[in-house]
Amino acid sequence: MDDLLFTDARILTEKGVIEGCLSVKDGKIIAIGAESGRDAKRIVDIGGKLIAPGLVDLHVHFREPGFTQKEDFLTGTRAAAAGGVTTVVDEPNNSPVTNSLEAITRKRRIIEGKAYVDYTLQMAVYADGLDEIRKAREAGIIAFPVFDELGDRPTGMENTVVLYEALRRIKEVDGLALLNCRESDLVIKKMNRLRESGRNTLSDYMDHFPHEAESLGAEKRILLAHNVGVRAHLREVSTLETVQMIRSMKGYMDTITAEIRPDHLFLNHENTKDLGPFAQQWTPLRTKNDSDALWEALNDGTVNVIASDHATHTREEKERGLDNIWNSPPGLPAIESMLPLLLTAVNQGRLGLERLFECASTNPAKVLGLYPRKGTIKVESDADLVVVDLEKESMIRGKDSKAKTHWTPYEDWKVKGAPVATYVRGMETYVDGEIVGEPGQGWFLSL
Ligand SMILES: [Zn+2]
Repeated sequence: MDDLLFTDARILTEKGVIEGCLSVKDGKIIAIGAESGRDAKRIVDIGGKLIAPGLVDLHVHFREPGFTQKEDFLTGTRAAAAGGVTTVVDEPNNSPVTNSLEAITRKRRIIEGKAYVDYTLQMAVYADGLDEIRKAREAGIIAFPVFDELGDRPTGMENTVVLYEALRRIKEVDGLALLNCRESDLVIKKMNRLRESGRNTLSDYMDHFPHEAESLGAEKRILLAHNVGVRAHLREVSTLETVQMIRSMKGYMDTITAEIRPDHLFLNHENTKDLGPFAQQWTPLRTKNDSDALWEALNDGTVNVIASDHATHTREEKERGLDNIWNSPPGLPAIESMLPLLLTAVNQGRLGLERLFECASTNPAKVLGLYPRKGTIKVESDADLVVVDLEKESMIRGKDSKAKTHWTPYEDWKVKGAPVATYVRGMETYVDGEIVGEPGQGWFLSL
């Protein structure tokens, strides 16, 4: 007998939508589309709703250890489940920074027993920690950010020779290099000039990271990663110029993927004027023109991954930036609003339904080497599933959030389409606004 049987479902597979049933046993999908004849311990009639592969989010900040006033693994993965996300990759900008095997081991111990969804962790690469890459890789870590700025001391990655060596070491162990699109010396110079001249509003913050600093940073890293032949992933593509540059460098992108954040699709200078620090994030929001270029890049395949960059802060921390934007920390909550916003875009005809899940589930699973175990609905894949009601209309409200902080830059936005249930390896985790899973059910994925 099977464990779980969904009936009257529309199942989103890579071959299109199949109508009928989906059966789960021992956490795996074992049959799709069989109309009848299978028996299960539990039968869920989902009344014609869509079952899609759970989202795989390559970019979340769950803040543990060090910043648990903002978020922790329990609340972060709870918010993930509420957003239809079943696998997350957690960032290393903790305190202390996760930049060694020892730090990874310590972090794993701290978060053990808390996760509702499956996860892996990143290890930040520092110039004096290149030997840690192999050690962490042997312990199942695959993703290595080689960022100029991370934590409270320089990483050394702004030195091109060091960055090149780091990429080579990641290639040696068949790891994944995470690349930021950022020439940080240009960003810091511009920021210092703005601050010294007393410019301290949200609009000044948005100016501090010039477009050329993003495209130059991306171009340099694409060339280096291509030369090394390392698998690499570009983070937070946000401008028209970077999109055009990636498009023109298609021949160099054979081992490289690129990611955009939902906030850069939906928010821009024009529609966040009154939000102050509550619209301030690491790679700032850009213009409507840039957002339009990102939509085009998403639809034409220039960019193939959507990741939330969920990075929330307390309301009090953000309010410090009301008088002076430089006093508040950059980052926004995003993991719960991501899927409803993208489904709304599907309903508006801006994005195909298949394309949404290709970019938010299938492709990120491929980037991690987790496909087809995750990121797709196939026989023998993990039963990581999100049940979607494409017709459901609702309002985004901070108070409804399962994250630790209860605010959102999308307050009162009307959305059409929402995740109504989430299953992690066949375990019912989120249903109709409530978390019903158990903390600790999420596994550390050794990759
Ligand atoms: Zn981030």
